Amino acid sequence: MPFEFSLSPDQEAFRSAVRAFLQKEVAPIVAEMDETEQFPAATVRRMQQEGYFGVPIPEQYGGLGLGKVGYCLLLEELGRVDASHGTIVGAHTSLGTTPLLYFGSEEQKQRYLVPAAKGDRLLAFSLTEPGSGSDSGAVHTVAEKVGDAWSLTGTKLYVSNGREADTIVVLAASDPKRGPSGGVTAFLLDKGRQGFSVGRCEKKMGLHGTSTAELILDHVELGPEQVLGPVGAGFVVAMTALDVGRVSLGAASLGAMEAATSGALDFAQKRVQFGAPIAQHEAIQFKLADMAMKVHALRYLVYHAADHQDQLGIDVARWSREARQAKTREAAIVKCLASEWASDVIDQALQVHGGLGYIRGTPIERAYRDARISEIFEGTNEIQRLVVARDLLERGL
Ligand SMILES: Cc1cc2nc3c(=O)[nH]c(=O)nc-3n(C[C@H](O)[C@H](O)[C@H](O)COP(=O)(O)OP(=O)(O)OC[C@H]3O[C@@H](n4cnc5c(N)ncnc54)[C@H](O)[C@@H]3O)c2cc1C
Repeated sequence: MPFEFSLSPDQEAFRSAVRAFLQKEVAPIVAEMDETEQFPAATVRRMQQEGYFGVPIPEQYGGLGLGKVGYCLLLEELGRVDASHGTIVGAHTSLGTTPLLYFGSEEQKQRYLVPAAKGDRLLAFSLTEPGSGSDSGAVHTVAEKVGDAWSLTGTKLYVSNGREADTIVVLAASDPKRGPSGGVTAFLLDKGRQGFSVGRCEKKMGLHGTSTAELILDHVELGPEQVLGPVGAGFVVAMTALDVGRVSLGAASLGAMEAATSGALDFAQKRVQFGAPIAQHEAIQFKLADMAMKVHALRYLVYHAADHQDQLGIDVARWSREARQAKTREAAIVKCLASEWASDVIDQALQVHGGLGYIRGTPIERAYRDARISEIFEGTNEIQRLVVARDLLERGL
């Protein structure tokens, strides 16, 4: 596939504005947020006011209209500063707004997408359950038809933004016998609905600014207007959102790798051992070179995939089967490589810092804890390899 890609002046200006904003408003609070494990409500509000929760959403629906490339620029910059803020934006934008943009009715777009893009409504996405993680089609939460309406009962797990969200995209089994192909439906569940409560919020290794919540649904009644996309198409809705999420996760990993590499480069030039900056030792130079190589390669992978998604457009009905499969394979490749390279680069950067890298509160120590989850969420890397392998077996290289 031919690929020529460079950022437009507008995209460059957006990146600069985001970088300046994050340095001024987010960077100063990150260390304390990590220690206190509090959701960063004030900085999230500021980001919402700047329009950063609606970057890829078309302007007609209240967004900034900067597409997936613009969205990846935001996530890359967030990745350089703080993974928690990146995850809050990602759970909302990739996983919350994508289903609405691609599958919502016009009424749902006006009611949910516009305020979500403008930053007046926070979204979350809930697929995982206690018995259904990687096997995400094996949803046990049941959606029972009661007349025109639906009654949802079940327990959901590990929902990012689950405690704070105003609305959650929930996947439930509307026809359990059919499983993922035709038996799962997506619903829009508003906070405060009778029978809905937020359960346990997990203590985690990293991402201390995010909530990871259990959701309890006990005969929650939802009208037909709360069904998102066709009945039975929930698995397609979810996987389409995850394709967007996986590329943006790659962008966040890229940002984290850039910050780790710059930090290690800077430290290695200042830290003197054996009478010289450690950057003069070849073993350290090789680590720095390996980090820079991965950063370089990942930039192409991420923006190629984001550009590809922009070229496809948002009219899902017009996507060919081939185009869908190529998009899904590419997203899996980006997610898998980016998360593993990020773990590796950050690990090497920590090594360059010596003992200091292990001290609680240093940026590299936090980055190390924050990075690990990217190999697990939005589909583990084992699942990404399965996705790639299945597509390879069907369509070849
Ligand atoms: C911080 C955090 C935030 C999250 N946010 C969300 C969210 O917002 N919304 C949401 O719905 N979910 C969310 N998740 C859930 C996350 O997506 C799942 O944890 C993940 O998909 C893995 O599922 P699991 O934990 O049940 O692991 P399991 O599926 O039990 O997997 C355990 C291990 O077995 C491997 N495995 C399983 N099946 C296979 C197979 N067929 N072949 C090879 N290996 C296999 C896995 O790769 C993994 O290594 C979040 C999780 C965390 C920790």
